[in-house]
Amino acid sequence: MRKNVIAGNWKMNKVLREANQFVEEAANKAPTSDQVEAIVCVPFPFLPSLVEKAKGSSIKIGAQTMHFEENGAFTGEVSPVMLNDLGVTHVVIGHSERREYFAETDETVNKKAHAAFRHGLTPIVCVGETLKQRDANETMKHVEKQVKSAIEGLSDKQVAETIIAYEPIWAIGTGKTASSEDANEVCSHIRQVIQQVTSKEIAEKVVIQYGGSVKPANIDELLGQSDIDGALVGGASLEVESFLQLVEAGTK
Ligand code: PGA
Repeated sequence: MRKNVIAGNWKMNKVLREANQFVEEAANKAPTSDQVEAIVCVPFPFLPSLVEKAKGSSIKIGAQTMHFEENGAFTGEVSPVMLNDLGVTHVVIGHSERREYFAETDETVNKKAHAAFRHGLTPIVCVGETLKQRDANETMKHVEKQVKSAIEGLSDKQVAETIIAYEPIWAIGTGKTASSEDANEVCSHIRQVIQQVTSKEIAEKVVIQYGGSVKPANIDELLGQSDIDGALVGGASLEVESFLQLVEAGTK
């Protein structure tokens, strides 16, 4: 049985004091259940402090991007070696905002997925279509291409450990959620694509999250779907109370 993975994506929000307060409280109150994993993906400057604060709790700390190289002349970048050294466990790769504003491509997403595994990090790989693509009935084709490209060259074991976040771009930060049936249809297509590339056994192990305006009011219905195993959450992960409600929903 797959776990539910609830990952908060704070994006470019909070200052260190607020981040510390959040994780202290979340670490105290988060449920410990084998059924759910709770991660907060935070801006780089908060990582060392939050990893410390989360120690001994069920909360894991992730980054929101990274470079694929280990070190070198890449001004302003952060490497997987640095993240691993700090005790970071997860890294979001290929978020649509990175693809749109920071030139992330399917190729760099694949390089980063490989780099994550080389350095002991679990990648949360984001895929999803624009409204234009959805209206043109291109969702499945687009997502299929993104998924295949992201996992290219990974071993079966690595694919099984990859977290895929299906985030329709039109649903991110807009308050519009894909209906749980529509979201599940895409998530189950993603699982089939993974099965084609690997095997049914591997595909059944992959955690596939939905993301896009997830909140306490819609999480139960989303998690009730056959192929949705958690959520990548922006806005509703900024308040500790709503984040914990989402994690709680994952325990059921
Ligand atoms: P949202 O963001 O929950 O605010 O829609 C989701 C995301 O970008 O991961």
